[in-house]
Amino acid sequence: MKVIEFSKPGIDNVRVVERNLEGTGIKIRVIKAGLNPLDYNIIDGKVVYNVYPVPHIPGSEVMGIAMEDGKTIKKGDRVIVYNRIFDNSCEMCYSGDEHLCYNGGIWGVISNGGYSEYIKIGEQNLFKVPDNMDDNTAVSVGIGALTSYRALKMAGPLVNEKILVYGAGNTGIFTVQIARQMGLDVYVYSRNKSLESSGIKVLDVVPEDFHADIIINPLGGKLFSDSIKHLKRKGRIITYGVLTGKIADMDIANIYTNELRVIGSTGGNRKDLSELLALMEEKHFDLPVYKEFSLWDIKEALHAFRDRINGRIILDL
Ligand SMILES: [Zn+2]
Repeated sequence: MKVIEFSKPGIDNVRVVERNLEGTGIKIRVIKAGLNPLDYNIIDGKVVYNVYPVPHIPGSEVMGIAMEDGKTIKKGDRVIVYNRIFDNSCEMCYSGDEHLCYNGGIWGVISNGGYSEYIKIGEQNLFKVPDNMDDNTAVSVGIGALTSYRALKMAGPLVNEKILVYGAGNTGIFTVQIARQMGLDVYVYSRNKSLESSGIKVLDVVPEDFHADIIINPLGGKLFSDSIKHLKRKGRIITYGVLTGKIADMDIANIYTNELRVIGSTGGNRKDLSELLALMEEKHFDLPVYKEFSLWDIKEALHAFRDRINGRIILDL
């Protein structure tokens, strides 16, 4: 079968090669794969994680069709991959937070991933796609939508509050929609004015006197320090990424005198994913797709990912 692999970091080092299908679990024919900051950074070498094995098959967001029966998954089912590897035997797993497993990690990072014609993966990592969900939306659930959903849950009770989301990329496009479904007053800091048509208020500059109850900021760096100034008293800021840098200067006095909370969130557990799939089956979600590429044109896709303004890049098999 054909796979995408690299031995050294860098877009130019990515190649299409023939490999045998390895691993255990249910055989899946891959239909679509997502391209996320995680995948891009793994390939480009800007990782906060160690990659294993090398040569490495990247790809942590995949949907496909089961080629054989499992216990609940049946041959022919459309499935998505829950992309956390976990041992079911540590404190985090016992408490249902298998995405934080002490002995686990991200599928596609600590193991080969899904940029491949076929994969094998255990049934504990497979979820059936609702019948009314199209393939492109389905492939975006595993990272894009799940990260957004978990981050909003981590913000705590959400009742009639004002929320400011930084960026309308892979996750932002889901965060704003889920937040609206939850009845929040949603603002997004973005160059993407097209979101206004779905009732989201788009800010290309955040005014000095703008304050929100909740800020979702996966951009990191200097934007993170600036965004904290836009929290109301008792506000919460949630981070799940560092697109513009890992280090931020913060006014700590502002944090304690206003009883602000800085909250980290990463991916989600399987319960989050199952709740999210139910929500997305019931409600309508728009998925802006910037462009689709054949998986075998991965280099063009990676360049487009870096240069795009909004919407997702989907890899098609
Ligand atoms: Zn564990």
